[in-house]
Amino acid sequence: MTQTTPTPESRAATGGPPFSELPLPETVLANLSQLGYHTMTPIQAASLPLALAGRDLIAQAKTGSGKTAAFALPLLMRLDTARFDVQALVLCPTRELAEQVSGEIRRLARAADNIKVLTLCGGSPARPQRESLAHGAHVVVGTPGRVLDHLDTGALQLDALATLVLDEADRMLDMGFHDDMVDVASACPADRQTLLFSATYPEGIARIAARFLRQPQTVKLAEQH
Ligand code: ADP
Ligand code: MG
Repeated sequence: MTQTTPTPESRAATGGPPFSELPLPETVLANLSQLGYHTMTPIQAASLPLALAGRDLIAQAKTGSGKTAAFALPLLMRLDTARFDVQALVLCPTRELAEQVSGEIRRLARAADNIKVLTLCGGSPARPQRESLAHGAHVVVGTPGRVLDHLDTGALQLDALATLVLDEADRMLDMGFHDDMVDVASACPADRQTLLFSATYPEGIARIAARFLRQPQTVKLAEQH
């Protein structure tokens, strides 16, 4: 399921500063406007200036707060579209979430030319995914187990990775993906930006953050209703 229009909840959550305050190209701002994104949600307003400046981030915010754009815009701005290799990797707990995130990244990427986003989840045959990987992609969104499988076979190469995102990290932990997250993060080049999003911040996530993020900024939002 993909959403093309903002939900009433997200409208209510915005009312923050306009996207035009951010260092984003006109084409990207125009596309955001077309999507109905005029003002930032609180998590976007808190995260985007830091993430666009290249900082590692621990962002604590609940579902429906607009987290996807908070990491999608920074990872898109870091892409070098003259190259055709995987430069951004987003790990999500479930296929449904991975598909939503891919859809949102594609919508936000419309302003740029031909950005290829590939979704790699378990529950689908691995072979067509390997073939898609052989054709190349700029952004990979997937579940930890399947992403690790493709790393193990060598189908997925992360030498050019610039951004690693752990989305809904606490749910990935709950679903037993701790070791897979660690193995994937360990396979990423050290010189990268890492963005960690989590609704809660249990000890397991704190340890992952301490190990894989570099001088992270923490952005924590008060409960919103
Ligand atoms: P989360 O990942 O925090 O659960 P999403 O990124 O999926 O939240 O966003 C929730 C909904 O809000 C989506 O329908 C998205 O299109 C919409 N949305 C996100 N940011 C904005 C914004 N700045 N203005 C209007 N709608 C937004
Ligand atoms: Mg989300």
